[in-house]
Amino acid sequence: MSKDCVNIILFGAPGAGKGTQAQMLKMKYGLSHISTGEVIRQEIASGSELGKSMEGYIARGELAPDELVVNMVADFVKRHKDNVGNIFDGFPRTLVQAEEFEKIMKKYGITVDMMICLNAPEEELVRRLLLRGLESGRADDCGEEVIRNRLKVYHQMTETVADYYARTDRVCKVDGAGSIDDVFHRLCETIDKIKESKQKA
Ligand code: ADP
Repeated sequence: MSKDCVNIILFGAPGAGKGTQAQMLKMKYGLSHISTGEVIRQEIASGSELGKSMEGYIARGELAPDELVVNMVADFVKRHKDNVGNIFDGFPRTLVQAEEFEKIMKKYGITVDMMICLNAPEEELVRRLLLRGLESGRADDCGEEVIRNRLKVYHQMTETVADYYARTDRVCKVDGAGSIDDVFHRLCETIDKIKESKQKA
């Protein structure tokens, strides 16, 4: 794998700003990007059997089954393995997903360089999600109850995935509070450092 390559997991609670920042990072660094949430929403919108099987989970603010999500990512990695790098947004969200992801990456000789955790205060997250729900009509952003459930699921199932990457010293935290541009600036500094240390290695 080339030293210019950078593979990043953008991690954080719902509403932390992963999707917004991923779009900006992808443009700046020429990376490919997969948002598992986005792929799921597209499947649901297309009316496919896969989409139908996931609709209920999303509407309740629960996680989609690991196997389905892992297959989506495996397909993405296969298609983008020769890229200059990738952003994984909203994946992995469980320990099973993290373990399966390692296997997928290993198969193609790629490694996750860093999990970047975007942090923001809980009430700020709820405020952002409610606002997003009004604008997008997203089923999982409509109503405080579903939003609170998604945050609960994040704390119960997902947060621990950071411990998995911490074991191999591949986690860093970035403050997700403040303006979109401020957060973007912080993320770019982090990614530049990752790239720099890869060049030196
Ligand atoms: P957010 O980060 O705001 O929660 P996403 O678009 O990443 O938004 O995800 C929306 C929903 O899609 C999640 O609440 C979950 O139900 C489902 N989802 C997304 N990624 C995964 C995943 N890796 N595993 C299981 N479910 C997922």
